[in-house]
Amino acid sequence: MLRVVVLGAAAGGGVPQWNCGCPVCRAARGEHPELRSTQASIAVSADGHHWFLINASPDLRQQLIATPQLYPEQGKLRHSPVSGVILTNGEVDAVAGLLSMREGARLTIYAHPKVLAVLKANSIFDVLNEANVKRRPIEIDRTFEPELSDGSPSGIEILPFAVAGKAAWYLRDKVDSSALGGEGDTLGLLIRNKASKRYFYFLAACGGVTEDVKSRLKGAPLVFFDGTVWRDDEMIAAGLGNKTGQAMGHIAMSGENGAIAALSGLDIGQRLFLHVNNSNPALLPGSEERKQAEQAGWRIPHDGTEIVL
Ligand SMILES: [Zn+2]
Repeated sequence: MLRVVVLGAAAGGGVPQWNCGCPVCRAARGEHPELRSTQASIAVSADGHHWFLINASPDLRQQLIATPQLYPEQGKLRHSPVSGVILTNGEVDAVAGLLSMREGARLTIYAHPKVLAVLKANSIFDVLNEANVKRRPIEIDRTFEPELSDGSPSGIEILPFAVAGKAAWYLRDKVDSSALGGEGDTLGLLIRNKASKRYFYFLAACGGVTEDVKSRLKGAPLVFFDGTVWRDDEMIAAGLGNKTGQAMGHIAMSGENGAIAALSGLDIGQRLFLHVNNSNPALLPGSEERKQAEQAGWRIPHDGTEIVL
């Protein structure tokens, strides 16, 4: 068994975003409350009792309250089924939730050394006492098995691999330009139950689909993929910002080189977009973009969606 719960499907800012009056955010506040979504993160478990978070979004507290699978066990005064967090990048929407896990639970944070360096350089993360919260480096192309809070093996193996991406935007002046887009800024994950071999892929940030990515994803039963923008310049065109998807390290859904086209014909089972920005018209019910995505076999999951492999 491999259980996955989508804790949130939205990109940074969520849906609706606090300071945004775009059509999607307006609809989410008004006639389409079902569009409301927290910032992207999933939880995964091999036994239904012990869970690992993939990224810790700024909405983590709200997500933990909304997800019965992650409640403390009945009868225990202090407990959490969350054994650890695997970070795939250093963006605010992937790491800020760690600050909501500072109440003394034992857990382990797994991340690339580049991301661990970001945590170390920001002393606010020292609120996670090292006596309880271990930080473990993970290596590209090396499988690891995250451990449970008592140190025993989880039965889940994870293979991190490098995908096209960018260092977090807030780091753009702090890293030399040769490091921008370098290995380790953005990881894809292959997550597998060791015993049953059931598996899926997680690439909630990805700047482009390479031959390497295609060959990995071929035939996968389930893929979570970067759905930030519908088209590369949509935030500029809508007057919402001055950054393209590519400038932020995100591939577009549409277009000749977009995710939908690039991942078609690979015999992928379930295809779900994660990290969907509120500017993305594929979120709007009845929109042409949503129809196109759905006709191509893609969907955008609601928060709380559970998938069992
Ligand atoms: Zn908006």
